[in-house]
Order: sequence, then C-alpha cells, then structure tokens
Amino acid sequence: KSQGKKTKAAPSTSACTHQTVYVPVHRSSEVQEARLRLPILAEEQEVMETINENPIVIVAGETGSGKTTQLPQFLYEAGYAQHKMIGVTEPRRVAAIAMSKRVAHEMNLPESEVSYLIRFEGNVTPATRIKFMTDGVLLKEIETDFLLSKYSVIILDEAHERSVYTDILVGLLSRIVPLRHKRGQPLKLVIMSATLRVTDFTENERLFKVPPPLLKVEARQFPVTIHFQKRTPDDYVAEAYRKTLKIHNQLPEGGILVFVTGQQEVNQLVRKLRRTFPYHPPTSSAKDRPKKAGEDTKTLQAAATDSDVEVEDPKELEFDMKRTIRNMRKSKKKFLAQITLPKINLDDYKLPGDDTEADMHEQQDEEEPEELMLEDDDAGDDDGEAGLISGNRRPLWVLPLYSLLSSEKQNRIFQPVPEGCRLCVVSTNVAETSLTIPHIKYVVDSGRQKTRLYDKLTGVSAFVVTYTSKASADQRAGRAGRISAGHCYRLYSSAVYNDCFEAFAQPDIQMKPVEDLMLQMRCMGIDRVVHFPFPSPPDQTQLQAAEHRLTVLGALEVRKSSEKTTDLPPAVTRLGQVISRFPVAPRFGKMLALSNQQQLLPYTVCLVAALSVQEVLIETGVQRDEDVAPGANRFHQKRQSWAASGNYQLLGDPMVLLRAVGAAEYAGSQGRLSEFCTTNGLRPKAVSEVRKLRVQLTNEINLNVSDVELGVDPELKPPTDAQARFLRQILLAGMGDRVARKVPLADIADKEERRRLKYAYNCADMEEPAFLHASSVLRQKAPEWVVYQEAYELQNGDSTKMFIRGITAIEPEWLLLYVPLLCNVREVREDPAPRYDEASGRIFCYVDATFGKAGWDLPLGEV
Ligand code: ADP
Ligand code: MG
Repeated sequence: KSQGKKTKAAPSTSACTHQTVYVPVHRSSEVQEARLRLPILAEEQEVMETINENPIVIVAGETGSGKTTQLPQFLYEAGYAQHKMIGVTEPRRVAAIAMSKRVAHEMNLPESEVSYLIRFEGNVTPATRIKFMTDGVLLKEIETDFLLSKYSVIILDEAHERSVYTDILVGLLSRIVPLRHKRGQPLKLVIMSATLRVTDFTENERLFKVPPPLLKVEARQFPVTIHFQKRTPDDYVAEAYRKTLKIHNQLPEGGILVFVTGQQEVNQLVRKLRRTFPYHPPTSSAKDRPKKAGEDTKTLQAAATDSDVEVEDPKELEFDMKRTIRNMRKSKKKFLAQITLPKINLDDYKLPGDDTEADMHEQQDEEEPEELMLEDDDAGDDDGEAGLISGNRRPLWVLPLYSLLSSEKQNRIFQPVPEGCRLCVVSTNVAETSLTIPHIKYVVDSGRQKTRLYDKLTGVSAFVVTYTSKASADQRAGRAGRISAGHCYRLYSSAVYNDCFEAFAQPDIQMKPVEDLMLQMRCMGIDRVVHFPFPSPPDQTQLQAAEHRLTVLGALEVRKSSEKTTDLPPAVTRLGQVISRFPVAPRFGKMLALSNQQQLLPYTVCLVAALSVQEVLIETGVQRDEDVAPGANRFHQKRQSWAASGNYQLLGDPMVLLRAVGAAEYAGSQGRLSEFCTTNGLRPKAVSEVRKLRVQLTNEINLNVSDVELGVDPELKPPTDAQARFLRQILLAGMGDRVARKVPLADIADKEERRRLKYAYNCADMEEPAFLHASSVLRQKAPEWVVYQEAYELQNGDSTKMFIRGITAIEPEWLLLYVPLLCNVREVREDPAPRYDEASGRIFCYVDATFGKAGWDLPLGEV
C-alpha cells in the first residue's frame, strides 16, 4: 500500500467537508507497482484535501498522468461510494468502456461494482459503486432526477474536449451543486481536463461566481523534440507511411504512434505497413501469442521469405534503458528533464527533411555531422519505396485504433507486443487524450483531422479534413514523452503550424445543430435556453434555427405573430414532450410518436434504430457521383432487390435498411449473423447496436404507451404494401424540412446540361441543386418528390458538390397534411364542396397551396 494513503485530510470546519473513512482496496502487487509510477499518485493527499473541502474542483493534468483511472479510486477509498455512487462521464463511448474495465481490474472489483453505461449498452447493477458513462447518458438521467440524488460525486472527464453534452453538464451542475448543498446532501463536482484552456471554466462568471480551485497534476513529461517538415505534402497518408518506415529502419527501440484522420486512412496505412514489415509468429509458440487480425495469406508468404533473416534482439538495450529511467524517477524530479538515452545522440533522431524546433533542444550547429546525412530524401522527392525498406527486417506490430473498432480489438493496444517486434499504432484522434497507449516514443502527426461541419441554418453537413489546432498538435506530440525523451515528426512545416493552425479547436456546441439539445433542455424546465450558463454559448442564429426546426416538427407551439414581441419562448407541445422521451433525435422521436396505428410501431422502431446508428451498410466501390458500374459495389444488386417493387420501392433506402436489419436479426437467431454480414455488406457492430436500440425503444414505448405491448420480434416480416405507404408518410412527418424536388429537365435545351442534371434535385431551402447519391436504390427511378435523410457536400477538385442520400419517394399532396407549417395556402376552394368525415369528425376541403420558400406549386389537395 502506498504510504500516503493513511494520512487523510483532517476534517475542516467548512460545511462542505466530507467525513473521511478509509475503505480498503486489495490490489495486486503488479497493479500497485504500475500505479505508483503515475504522477497523480504523488498528489493524492492534496487532491483529496481539496475535494473534501470544496464543492467544485478542477483537476488539470497531462494526458496519461492517471486522472481517469486513479481519481475514482481515491474517492472510493475515502468513502465516497459508501452510500451513493461515484459517477464519471466521458465524451467518448470507447473511453467509458475501457476505463471502467481498467478501474475494475485495478481495484480487483467485479464489473457489477465498477460498471459502465452508454447509449446502447452497459453492465450497471444495483451494486454499482463507480459508474462510468457517456455524458449524454448523465444528461438523460438529470431529466428524471434533477438533483442526481444517487450520486455523491460527479466527475466530468475530458472537459477540454468541449463536447456538447459535457458543456451542458458543466452548466447544469454549476446550479445543482449549490442546490444539493442547501438540502444538506452535498454533491461534489470534479471537472477534469488536459492542460488546455482551463480558463473557460475557471474564469467564467456565468458559471461560477467564485472560481473553483484549480489543481494541476505535475506531469512527469519527458522532453519531446518536435521535427517539422520543410514542406507540407498533400498526401499525408503516403508521407506518414514513409516517415514510419524511416523511423522503424533507422531509429532505436520505442513504439510509434501515427495520427491520421479516419477509419479508412487508418486501415489503408495499417495494411500497407503490415505488408512491408510482416509479423511471422514463431511456429512453436504461436498459440500463446496474440493473433494478428487481417493477416492474409499474402502477408504470411511475405513473412515466410523473411523468416531466415536473423532478427536482432533489442531486449538488452531496452532493459537497461528501463532500469535507468526507473532509477532516475526515484531521484529528484529535476533530473527527469535531463534524461537522454544511453549512447544515443539526439541528432540521430532527426530524419532528412526535418526542421527540428530550436527551443526544445538547441542545435547550435547548422551543419549536420557527415554520417547523419542519410542519402534519403525530402518530402516529395520521388525515390520509390524499395530503398526505404531495405534497412530493417525486424517485424512491426501494427495495430489500428478508431472509435468504431470493436472493443476487443481496441484493447490490443494494451497487450504485450510479441517478442522482437516494435509496436506501431495507427490512430484517429481517439489516441490524442482519451486513451494512453503504453511505450510510445515516436509520434508521426499528419496534423489533420476529420471534422463534420454543419451549416448553421440548413443543417447540411460536410465532412472536411482540416488542420488540427495547435493545442491538438501539442497534445499529440506529448504522447511521445511518456516513457522517455520522445520525438514527434510533424508532416507539415513550422510555417503552416504558425499560420494555418488555430490556437484551440472550437467547442462542439458552436459547431452543431442544437435542436435535440434545445428540446431536452426545454423539457427539463429550462425555458430560456438563451440565458443558460454555457461555458461557451452557442450563437443566436443557431438557437433560432433550432427553435424553427422544432416548431416545424410540431414539438414547440406555433408563435402567434402578436406574441413575437414577448421574450418568452414558445411552449413545448404534448407531442414535443413525447418526442423528448425517446433517446433519439427529435425527428425520429416524432416518427415513433406517430406510429401507434396500423401495426406500424415495430417497423418504425426498427427503422429509427437503423437510421440512428452510423454506417450500418458498408459502401464499397460506389463512385461518389457516377453510376454504379456493374460489380463496383457487390452489395448493390442485393440491396436493389430488397427494395423491389411498388411501395417497397418507393420507400427507397430506408426500406433497404429495414430489410437488411430484419434479415440480419433472423440470421442472428439462426446463429449465422457474421456470415450474413460478410455476404451482404453489413457492419456487425452496427447490427448489434441497432438491436440494442430496438430493445431500448421498445421498452420505452411499453412503459409510456399504455395500450401497446411491443416485443422485439426476430422474425419481423416485411411490411405490407399499405404499411409501406404509411411508413413513407411517417418518414415525411419526421423529415418535413428535408424535402427535395427533381430539377425539371424538360425546360433545359442543352444536352450536356441535361445530362449533368440527370440526378439533380432542388432542396426546399437551398439554392444549389443536390444530386442523388449513387448508393441510393432510387437512383434509377429518380422520383419527382423525395425526402432525404442527409444532405452533405463533397470537395470535388476546386469546387464542391452537394449530395443527398437516404431517399424516400413522397406524394406532394401529403405535404399539406404532414408539414403544414412550410406550406403557404393561397386559397381554400369552395368547389368541390367540403366533405365531412363522420368517423374523425373532420371537415375536408380542397386547398390551393405552395411549398417552401421557393413556392413550389402543390397539386390541389384535400385537407
Ligand atoms: P489520464 O486520464 O490522466 O489521461 P489515465 O488514467 O487514462 O490517464 O491513464 C493512466 C495510465 O493507465 C496510462 O499509462 C495508461 O496507459 C494506463 N492504462 C489505461 N488503461 C489500461 C489498460 N487497459 N491496460 C493497461 N494500462 C492501461
Ligand atoms: Mg483521462
């Protein structure tokens, strides 16, 4: 046991004081040893004293210093979990799962006591003491239990990521904590963050009148030398490959961490690196070693030809190095900064073409020593890869890391690397702060990230690759300095860093449409969202756009023009309240709310579940804006047949999802799920998420709607034609602001232009036409009126092109009924005479109207 543990803070007279008791934890000696190496352990006493004496505390510390894994344990040992729970929120699901498992392991407690809860799954039990969850989950809990009465402490982790939900939680908790205090049941709040821009929380009078104390965890960060590139290549994936090769060939021991922007790039680079440096498990003990996934026969063959090459054993050097570091760590901190590795000259780390930042390790001498002048290249010089590969025959243990990767595969980054291999992890920005990968010494930073940008008014999104912020780049570099002095190779020039990188990333809340958030906050009784203490408030246009979309959806009352002057926001309708109960976007909530008829609910539940989960269907080889060539997407034919005829066909892409998920469920009940997914191009993890969401939505409906008893049927029969027609109407009711009409080709004389606009649609609130995505099963039919799930822009050379996808055909006369607020009624026709419907007690009459801002004529419709 660590010595510091027994000397707990003396109880002070302050009212916030927590009476400390000591709850013992029985850790294994291995875990205990690893813990003692974490910087935060040295600060335990100070951290706990500050928390005991203050209701709100901010803890900032370098990534990897042990905040997430250790702080919950400190609190547990100090008795915070005795009567109520310790809650920890994470913006990323990956982190919530991984961290709960790690903490359970370290504390030697079952997962029923240290548990996690994310949107689709969890292992929380009544015995749970420490609960890791996503920030969205806690926000939902506040809706039903405003004072969070089950918790004694809430830790908001990764607050620097500025995720929308964490931002709101900070605002809400700044008010909940004093309320709990008043009731004599104090709640502690700990805001944890990497060492970035903490002032948004500390020096923010809207949030905290008295700034909460800020604890900085002294990180034992070793110096990291930054190497800029002289030029900034466009193809950063190719450049990352070259750089990784060079590091592996020319530089001593130490793991490599490569940052690229997305899953595809990660996989592409992993494949390429594995092919170049194959790992060939020794046949004798192959079974004991972790298997390498995706190792195809080709790789094995390549490996076989290398097998007679002697692999030089680097263990000895490493052992020495580790011991040196361990000894140094025991001595005073000031030595730490001076650690350099035995017999290794820092200049050795400089790769040709690098521009090493002068202030970290001064390089007086402009001239490099001769033996370091490698013949190799600078970025962009095309010298082929063959020359690069020759240097090192040592295998590279290459692992991918991104958020959609299954958790077993993610966990491999923590497992031991096979003997004789060097670790290389290719990651998206998941590895930037949420997960700390052990043994990294070299970081290769593409300097890019993928961001989803939304148009504030239309909600149109575009995935764009942008430069990261300076703060992110520095975080990434910091990953190299965890075990010893490290090196970060930036695939861009220092000029680009200085001129093109923002200081910090913008908080998410200022980037995304906020309607679900607004509805959720309104249903919690926060009427004036405008006055909410956000750490950084979303802008006015965004809030107004959200209010407008919610009104069109029918979730907020229509403001009468006479009321426009009062600043009281429009009230939430009953429909709005129902909508907000479902853990899905408001438009999907509305679809569920409308489905309690014609036995439609099982289908809508399934559809909404499938539409809420990312990338259920794998798209391969679909050209962005060209027709699908035969065989280009081997799944396309099948998908076309899933949406075969009549109203099925008109239901379009959602029908494909519905059939795919239904069939996958059935295959699953027969134990053939993975085979089915492979042959039909479904992502297995997504299928299981859809299933979980189906169960969750079904439970929600059974709880809230008294006259239905839904089940989750593994044999969901395809809908009848009549049901498919209703489903199209329900889709329209939810997507009423995403209506598009085919560009009329008849008026266009120019042949070329007609061809260009073959799949073009005008969207109700956009000027530029958008094109039907090639993956759509409705592309051949190209119906006149459609609703779409998503509109987005793609860069196409210098210009951009807008696409719509997730297409369903609609009939224009439905618009008056389902999206009345976007229709302009020109006149109500007297002739033919109004019809009275006895069953509904409604009067129908004919209406002459137009739709949307553009004023598209609607056929004379009955309303
Ligand atoms: P912080 O929250 O300050 O960034 P963490 O508490 O996440 O730091 O990490 C502390 C240490 O625990 C890191 O060195 C990390 O590598 C290690 N760690 C985290 N999860 C695991 C795991 N599953 N297996 C082994 N080590 C782990
Ligand atoms: Mg952490």
